[in-house]
Amino acid sequence: MGKFIVFGEEFLSRLREEVNLPELVGRQIKLKRSGRSFVSLCPFHEDKTPSFHVNPEKNTFRCYGCPAAGDAIEWMKRAHHLSFYDAVVALAQECGIPLPAGELEESEDKDLRKRLAKYYQVLKDAARLYEEGLEKNPSGRSYLETTRGLSKVTIKKFGLGVVSTGVVRLLSSAGNETLLGSGLAAKNDAGIYDRFRQRVMLPIVNEGGNLVGFAGRSLIAKPEKAPKYLNCPETEIFHKGKELYGLHFAKPAIRKAKLAVMVEGYFDVICAHQAGDERVVAPMGTAVTNQQMRRLLVHTDNITFAFDGDRAGRRAALSAAAVVLDEIKDGQTARFLFLPEGEDPDSFIRKFGIEAWFSAVDGADQLSTFLGNYIAHKLDRSVPEQQVLAANKAKAILARIKKALLFRHALRLKFEELVSVPLS
Ligand SMILES: [Zn+2]
Repeated sequence: MGKFIVFGEEFLSRLREEVNLPELVGRQIKLKRSGRSFVSLCPFHEDKTPSFHVNPEKNTFRCYGCPAAGDAIEWMKRAHHLSFYDAVVALAQECGIPLPAGELEESEDKDLRKRLAKYYQVLKDAARLYEEGLEKNPSGRSYLETTRGLSKVTIKKFGLGVVSTGVVRLLSSAGNETLLGSGLAAKNDAGIYDRFRQRVMLPIVNEGGNLVGFAGRSLIAKPEKAPKYLNCPETEIFHKGKELYGLHFAKPAIRKAKLAVMVEGYFDVICAHQAGDERVVAPMGTAVTNQQMRRLLVHTDNITFAFDGDRAGRRAALSAAAVVLDEIKDGQTARFLFLPEGEDPDSFIRKFGIEAWFSAVDGADQLSTFLGNYIAHKLDRSVPEQQVLAANKAKAILARIKKALLFRHALRLKFEELVSVPLS
């Protein structure tokens, strides 16, 4: 374990704040939502009725049948029989928060805090410059207002902006370290330079409402000149596998509707929110990750994925299904919507309207139907060779399900019927 670290109070409170306690506890025991909190049979005493409560707002737990109560660190101590020190180390690893290095004095923890505060500040300053940039940039404005059909209110709500030649020079008083550490600047032999140029800028706000990075959509028509979308790199405050675009705005609607809708693109999110569906979120321009899925399942038991109706969409659906199978628990559902060929949620909503979107989402395929179609694809049950191929696909799917035993059982029966061979 190396040197013994003295944890500063600031580091500990950051840990307590950043951890998602319902998600953490939910990895060990099955939690059910009840009003604003989560309940379960208590894992620390012989419990007949669910006395164990987790409060997602305070990030604390409490049992009404025994003395178990506390924060995330206390949970790690009790659930894994760890000392305070080991509980903190394990928790930091779980949350992906780097441990303070070496034998740490409180002053070094303050340094970290200060450094992160500088990142947050410079990102805010950049966001303001990007917003101002939009006023002066007719092609950026026309892209957002005409091509994407976004209103001024929506543009303001999502903090959209434009960068033309860059902002790094204007922000030089922040210092190179901060500009690099925040992800705004990159570095080559000649010095530091703007990572984002000639782009529409989309601020990425984390679940707690803090600006942690940007995504940029190229305004250059030739795709070979610049990638269409560019994100901030991983920084100490931006982790693309963890964040969900739009979640901060979507959370209340998701909780109310008991359903989240996951789309692929940033503008799909923005367009859906503008049109009246605020349940919509997206991963960060990549395939959905397990962390993102767990983050979303804290807020709802039901997720509907919307994919473009092309081959790339089918591929994306398969990789999303794999993550769902890893994470889903009995009682949770995932559904899959495939839009007509050539449409994404943005174009679909603008062409057919929000009511058509709502009914498309309502009519999405169940996960089991989607998987069944995948297995039955080109399957001729009179040909044993094909049956074996299909049976192997089915077994691979069943093997991924770890947290939903009833669902796995029911799915196996369905697959056996489909393939006409036993799968156990
Ligand atoms: Zn208890």
